[in-house]
Amino acid sequence: MSSPGAKPSIFSRIIAREIPATIVAETDRIIAFEDIAPQAPVHIVITTKATQYRNVVELAAGDPALLAELVRVAATIADERTGGEFRLVFNNGAAAGQTVFHVHAHVMGVGDRSQSLG
Ligand code: 5GP
Repeated sequence: MSSPGAKPSIFSRIIAREIPATIVAETDRIIAFEDIAPQAPVHIVITTKATQYRNVVELAAGDPALLAELVRVAATIADERTGGEFRLVFNNGAAAGQTVFHVHAHVMGVGDRSQSLG
């Protein structure tokens, strides 16, 4: 669980519908929404409703079934939006570009096979 008094992450506030987001998929344990600052024509964030895992390494150790579910949801979204050719990115740590410390993956793709992410 989050430590007592910890400030909820921005993603917790999206999950609680306290701030708006364009939600594209949801299960009992996973939620996916459009990234607010897309780095690619298709850029979706997939995160866990559980708040205690700060990154993918912690999630893999603590709940590998939930990590597998997150990847399945990501793949379903990517199939629909990119035709199945996509990047699945987990930034792990601030030095690697992680800014939200609530485990999440980025699905990035082009959505148009005449282009590529380069
Ligand atoms: P990270 O840098 O931690 O791997 O990824 C965090 C992602 O969350 C960034 O791509 C950023 O644009 C996105 N993000 C941050 N705040 C919000 C928000 O309030 N709403 C949405 N939809 N995305 C956000």
